[in-house]
Amino acid sequence: MELDNPADFGVWGRVYPEKMSAFRSWIAADLGISQLTAQKIFGAAAKDSGLVQFHSGYGWLEIPFLLENLPDFIEAETILVSVSDVQPTGGEGHCKIHNVFFGKGTCPVCSGNIIHRGRRKLSIPAGY
Ligand SMILES: [Zn+2]
Repeated sequence: MELDNPADFGVWGRVYPEKMSAFRSWIAADLGISQLTAQKIFGAAAKDSGLVQFHSGYGWLEIPFLLENLPDFIEAETILVSVSDVQPTGGEGHCKIHNVFFGKGTCPVCSGNIIHRGRRKLSIPAGY
C-alpha cells in the first residue's frame, strides 16, 4: 500500500467564451500571477477541452460552498470536481458516491486520506 499525501481538491468547468477576460482577471488575482501568465497557462486548456481548473488546493469540506458560489464566468452545468492534480477527463478513477475524479487507486474521500478544511495555496494548479 502506498503512502500518499492527503488529497486536496479542485473544481473544473467551462468558461463562457465571452467571459474569458473576466476569468483571466479572476484567476490571476486568485493565484497571484499576471494576466499574461494566466492566459498562457489557461488559454490553451480553455480552447482544447473547454475545461479549466478555476479552484485548486481546497479541503473536501470547502467544496460544497464553492459549488454553491460559482463565479459567473463558469457554465454551472459543466462543473466537475477532482483531486487537485488529476485531470477530470483522464478516464481513471471516479467515485460515484462522492462524484470526484481521483486518478489511480481508491477514492481518497472514501479512504479518508484528505485535507478536510482550508486550502493548499498553489501558484499554478497541476494539470496545466
Ligand atoms: Zn468516494
